[in-house]
Amino acid sequence: MAEDPMKGTVPVTFYEPGGVPHYASDTPALDSYGRRIDYLRISLTDRCNMRCVYCMPAVGVQFAPRPELLTNDELLLVVRAAAAAGFRKLRLTGGEPTLRHDLVELVRAMKATPGIQQIAMTTNALRLRKLAGPLKEAGLDRVNISIDSLDAAKFRQLTRGGNLDDVWAGIEAADAVGLHPIKLNAVVVRGMNDDEVLRLAELTTRYPWEFRFIEVMPLTGVAGLAEEGVVSSAELIARIEERFGPLEPYGQDPADPARRYRIPGAPGKLGFISAVTDPFCATCNRMRLTADGRLHLCLLRDDEVDLRAAIRAGASVAEVEQIIRHAVYLKPWGHGLPEGVLPTLRGMSQLGG
Ligand code: SAM
Ligand code: SF4
Repeated sequence: MAEDPMKGTVPVTFYEPGGVPHYASDTPALDSYGRRIDYLRISLTDRCNMRCVYCMPAVGVQFAPRPELLTNDELLLVVRAAAAAGFRKLRLTGGEPTLRHDLVELVRAMKATPGIQQIAMTTNALRLRKLAGPLKEAGLDRVNISIDSLDAAKFRQLTRGGNLDDVWAGIEAADAVGLHPIKLNAVVVRGMNDDEVLRLAELTTRYPWEFRFIEVMPLTGVAGLAEEGVVSSAELIARIEERFGPLEPYGQDPADPARRYRIPGAPGKLGFISAVTDPFCATCNRMRLTADGRLHLCLLRDDEVDLRAAIRAGASVAEVEQIIRHAVYLKPWGHGLPEGVLPTLRGMSQLGG
């Protein structure tokens, strides 16, 4: 292992080609707690065409200079190496992934990678009206779309400028081309959009979509908001049940952090993601790749392993696979919010949710 040039400031692990540990290549990557990690969330850019209040500060966001971002060739090398390490599902995120140049061709090449079975994308949908068809044709399987309010003025305020009509057109386009199942996400912040929850939940009585409510997490840049603003899933469920009657539990997918329910008789589902009040670390199956080429081992911790440095020093697919396997092994058990350990280095827009 090479000397960490940022030792003492950033918990980042660096490797040089040839200096990597060796793991067997014929089994899927397991972490040191025995969890199989087979889901890679890839942040394609840290830039965004919105500025959601729970994600980015209004001013002062520093974007990575373009040469620091992984190129398409570098991304595809990582995907091949991840597939060799047993990763099967990819999610493209950001920032806003639809801002990435050549997104459609990138999806096509990722989907053609042997071993990759599913590609999903999380997007604010502003550009989806035009992109949904080409993305579906290139092999994108499904989308999660963020929509925190059904009131145009409130939506503009929460996203600092987002146009709700464009988002709705994006959702309809995704539905029309079959990017199913459509999942919609709302981060609920007390005093900002918690009064919208019944309207948002009601959508599932009209559409066969899954609407997921996410507890706001204390990422860098918004930690103060999260301190005041968390509305627990338990409180949301109580409010929704008061209006719609008892919710029916709906088949749980162990690889999905959302606890799922249904309003009786509704075609759609409700999901609750309670990272703050009821963490799901025991079943965590994921790692994140930042747009600047680091594996981020747990969303709510700072630990990272640098892939870009190894790739730019000439590491082969097999060597990058070994670094990924080791990063999986190093994955922390879970976050430390109950002990007051907060991530300090990256905001959500750099990590992709
Ligand atoms: N721009 C895309 C979007 O908004 O869907 C993808 C990137 S965004 C960072 C990914 C997800 O993270 C979105 O569902 C967003 O609502 C969620 N998110 C952002 N900040 C959050 C926070 N502080 N706590 C919980 N979820 C957050
Ligand atoms: Fe942009 Fe998504 Fe963050 Fe909103 S949540 S600012 S759309 S990256």
